[in-house]
Amino acid sequence: MPIIRVAVPVPKRQFFEYQHSSALEPGIRVRVPFGPRKLIGVVLETTKESQWQSDKLKAILDVLDETSIFSSVQLKLCQWLSQYYQHPIGDVLHSAMPVSLRKGGSSQPKPVSFLRTTDEGQQIPSENLGKARKQQQLLAQLQQGEASYSSILAQYASTTVKAVVQKKLIEQVERIPSLDTDWLAHLNIGEKPLPNVEQAIAISQITAKIGEYASFLIEGVTGSGKTEVYLQAIESVLTQGKQVLILVPEIGLTPQTVERFAKRFNVLVGILHSNLTDNERLLVWQQSQAGQLPIIIGTRSAIFTPMKNPGMLIVDEEHDSSYKQQDGLRYHARDLAVMRAAQEKIPLILGSATPALESLNNALSGKYQHLLLNERAGNASHPKQQVLDIRNQPLEFGLAKGIIERIGQHLAQESQVMLFINRRGYAPALVCHTCGHVEECPGCNKPYTLHKQLYKLQCHHCGNAKAIPKRCQSCNSTELSAMGLGTEQLEQGLQTLFPQYTSVRIDSDSARGKNRLNDMLDKINRNEYQILIGTQILSKGHHFPNVTLVVILEVDGALFSADYRAAEHLAQLVTQLAGRAGRAEKPGEMWLQTHDPSHPLLQDLLNNGYSHFARYALLEREQAMLPPHTYQALFRAQSSDPRLANQLLMDISMQFSYSKHVQCIGPLPALMEKRQGKFRMQLVLSSRNRAALQHALSQAMPNIEQLPLASKVRWALDVDPQDFM
Ligand code: ADP
Ligand code: ZN
Ligand code: ZN
Repeated sequence: MPIIRVAVPVPKRQFFEYQHSSALEPGIRVRVPFGPRKLIGVVLETTKESQWQSDKLKAILDVLDETSIFSSVQLKLCQWLSQYYQHPIGDVLHSAMPVSLRKGGSSQPKPVSFLRTTDEGQQIPSENLGKARKQQQLLAQLQQGEASYSSILAQYASTTVKAVVQKKLIEQVERIPSLDTDWLAHLNIGEKPLPNVEQAIAISQITAKIGEYASFLIEGVTGSGKTEVYLQAIESVLTQGKQVLILVPEIGLTPQTVERFAKRFNVLVGILHSNLTDNERLLVWQQSQAGQLPIIIGTRSAIFTPMKNPGMLIVDEEHDSSYKQQDGLRYHARDLAVMRAAQEKIPLILGSATPALESLNNALSGKYQHLLLNERAGNASHPKQQVLDIRNQPLEFGLAKGIIERIGQHLAQESQVMLFINRRGYAPALVCHTCGHVEECPGCNKPYTLHKQLYKLQCHHCGNAKAIPKRCQSCNSTELSAMGLGTEQLEQGLQTLFPQYTSVRIDSDSARGKNRLNDMLDKINRNEYQILIGTQILSKGHHFPNVTLVVILEVDGALFSADYRAAEHLAQLVTQLAGRAGRAEKPGEMWLQTHDPSHPLLQDLLNNGYSHFARYALLEREQAMLPPHTYQALFRAQSSDPRLANQLLMDISMQFSYSKHVQCIGPLPALMEKRQGKFRMQLVLSSRNRAALQHALSQAMPNIEQLPLASKVRWALDVDPQDFM
């Protein structure tokens, strides 16, 4: 009987063997017995020889697919991921498929719930719904055309939907969404601007490589028209009937982005983000696999989407940290995109105003073709960037006097202003005025953040929360006060200073809930808010044409961080934030408040720009023997007994002591030493040679897995770690 090697989703880095009456094609899902459980695995190969005793092999219970659900390139990429990240192949293959397929669901399309108007609902004016404004809106929207149930739930409360259904004005129907089998027939290239010289060069270099592998890095200042280059570069891919997969950061996937692509080409765009139902996700996967979607836009895991006729890959804002998965299979979607493009023999475009040093290094060394866009597109000019020394200056709500005046001036000119602060909540600590005691999370030994609107203290490291205490835990004094500044307090301050203008706070607290962020972005673009206050979210690629002033507060911490990537990330953040200013006709300016105005990093960045800063930072990394000039892997261990975590990492480091090419640093405490009551330790492996590091890891892993402490202490390996928290 043939022996089938199956990848099973268990935390073991091996395949498992089963018997079956006939050979099975790699990539077919099977249900197999695994101990007392039944699991869904994926066939890797059929052989005659067993690695173990073949008469003891169990039989496959069920064969779920007639043909492979993966292409041969996808299977190869999964093997590569498994080897490169030292991760179990069964888990890699599971990560690469939609959830419903992991659960054993059919790979054939299933019906999706839609909402549409009833005959009555189509005829009555929506105003008849009287005071129920949301219901009116919903009805008016569906009168324009049906919509999927989940997309409606993303915009309206379910009670609103139910109310209109009960009035028999709208109804729910189940059906398989119509497929766009012939998109090429109605593909139509819409109105487009004439590219400037730099854009034209980029477009022609890229299109010259259609049909073969090539990697491009577009290093284009903010607002230089990178998206326009993508649009014009994919034109000829689409007209050849081939598909394009575009990755965007977690937060960059807004309806505006999608609309821009859909409108330009008059086709459906497949969207993959975290708010989809399992079934909707499966549908995009199937349609793309069948070649029915010309354009697929999605966040990190969309890199696994199969394409029948792959034509091009694009990774927008390629420096964004959301492309690195931080748990389980810790892959980097950008690196996987490079591998995939090479395997599929198609061009890959990486684009950013602030490229990651890794990518810049690859471009400067000639591994990627380097395309520069130094001019802002259209009539927009570069924003002016300045630092403001706030040493010994009185601050009001964290703002210097000069800045407050500037804000007033910009507002008076009917522009919008944007303020960035890296801390959500009201204040980063609650301090006792009598004895100095700071309320700390007992699990993490870090101060609780004060959230006045939620009436609670919250730990931003583990989520632990409690009511705001009335008295000091240490001395019983009632004089507790907020220390430091967060988004909530800044918003309150600005409302006090500028009561005649409206403000909006955009952080992960206020943007929670499905379409809140999109709602807020819409209102900003309709000028309903004049003052925008927020965290990281504000920096990510949004187009705010009317913002002319950007103010950055409280980023000094990053200048002194122990993480060698902190400077790079700060430079990216500041440049991206500055890039939000003056993106249209009005010129923009950025001010950064700091206690260290002469810091060489800030000076270099502001005087010479990110591209100069980044080239200099690359030299520094080389001298310090840090990535991208060396390659790293990180073992993390955590335990409620710090000695155990330390000992495991010591034992692990012994496994590399023979290796000439790999250097071990540690064990050292993580930057975040304690979290949720667990002590966290790290061991860094570093090598000048990526292959040598890979080889050493492959040799050592089986031994490491056998270490006695390896089953007692929680640990993980992170290849190419992006942070040391
Ligand atoms: P980026 O992706 O670099 O932020 P976009 O492609 O979104 O830049 O371009 C910024 C703005 O400039 C958009 O409104 C876009 O329509 C416009 N734009 C881009 N290229 C041109 C061009 N060649 N001529 C005129 N306007 C352009
Ligand atoms: Zn006290
Ligand atoms: Zn905590």
